[in-house]
Amino acid sequence: SHVITLACRPVGLPTADNFQLQSQALPALQPGQVLVKNLWMSVDPYMRGRMIDRKSYIAPFQLGEPLEGGAIGEVIESRHPDFTVGSHVSSMLGWRSHFISRGDDLTRLPDTPLPLQSFLGIMGMPGMTAWVGLNRIAALKAGDTVFVSAASGAVGSAACQIAKLAGCTVIGSTGSAGKVDQLKQLGVDEVINYKQVDSLSDAIATAAPQGIDVYFENVGGDHLEAVLNHMNDHGRIAVCGMIAHYNDTEAQPGPANLANLIIKKLKMEGFIVFDHWEHYGEFAAQMGQWLAEGKIQSQETVYHGLEQAADAFIGLFEGKNSGKMLVKLGE
Ligand code: NDP
Repeated sequence: SHVITLACRPVGLPTADNFQLQSQALPALQPGQVLVKNLWMSVDPYMRGRMIDRKSYIAPFQLGEPLEGGAIGEVIESRHPDFTVGSHVSSMLGWRSHFISRGDDLTRLPDTPLPLQSFLGIMGMPGMTAWVGLNRIAALKAGDTVFVSAASGAVGSAACQIAKLAGCTVIGSTGSAGKVDQLKQLGVDEVINYKQVDSLSDAIATAAPQGIDVYFENVGGDHLEAVLNHMNDHGRIAVCGMIAHYNDTEAQPGPANLANLIIKKLKMEGFIVFDHWEHYGEFAAQMGQWLAEGKIQSQETVYHGLEQAADAFIGLFEGKNSGKMLVKLGE
């Protein structure tokens, strides 16, 4: 079996040298253990934060140790009464081909016609993040004008579609013409290609002459500053991520126009999806229904094999994905 470890800590944009693919021999199963073969693993922007040696909401990765992250696998050998061979499980033990577990770090996947990998995307953490940010943080309501940055990503594309279903006008920003077209096909009202505009602020003024009520923040930097200019009174900003900063090697200046928070009486709140996990059942019931009714589309970009996992991860910072970025590890 194989595993990817953190070879050295990245400075700036991660490179292939930061990762090391190693083989590992797994011992024979003991009573109460299962052997899981990973079929899919997730790469996510938050993993960049875990590569920095600092205190955060989640412990940093350790040098020379396997990386971790969301994964979907199949039990291929079992000495555990609760897991039969062939059952599908999710875990945080991605970045490896196989692992041994006592079961307490596994979640059995429900019996569903949905593709297994959707539990790493639209039905999993990223979909839940969009739903929590809009409903529980930004108090979304029908008629709101919603701006979503990194709109074509896993979280962003879910947020755009959830807001449309809630009866909102949705404006998204993304970094390529192809992604602009995809977002329009998903029903997003106006899409800005932020790489092609002279002034993001002017582009938002044109796309949303009525102003923005809810900003679903995934990017930070110039995006936050530009949107602040166009927020309506009593607007809400759900701060989900700031991917434009994750590879910063020095602190960047904050938005020059934060005083808009006062003038417009805005509410700006950050959140971590895991703090809201008690609501997963409610989210999953709703999202499962939307998917079954064909009201939400889930896009994904798939890299193949553990040897491509580092490239897939680095690709997140280069806009290589539409929808959820995934690595397929097995059949
Ligand atoms: P995405 O699928 O959105 O992938 C990242 C995308 O971000 C890229 O495809 C790229 O798209 C865009 N991007 C990358 N670098 C930049 C940049 N410098 N400026 C603008 N856009 C950039 O990832 P996720 O959906 O998994 O995550 C989206 C955001 O949500 C991230 O900030 C992440 O950290 C955050 N997050 C927060 C959670 C929470 O609990 N708070 C949970 C999950 C995610 P493009 O081509 O459009 O540039």
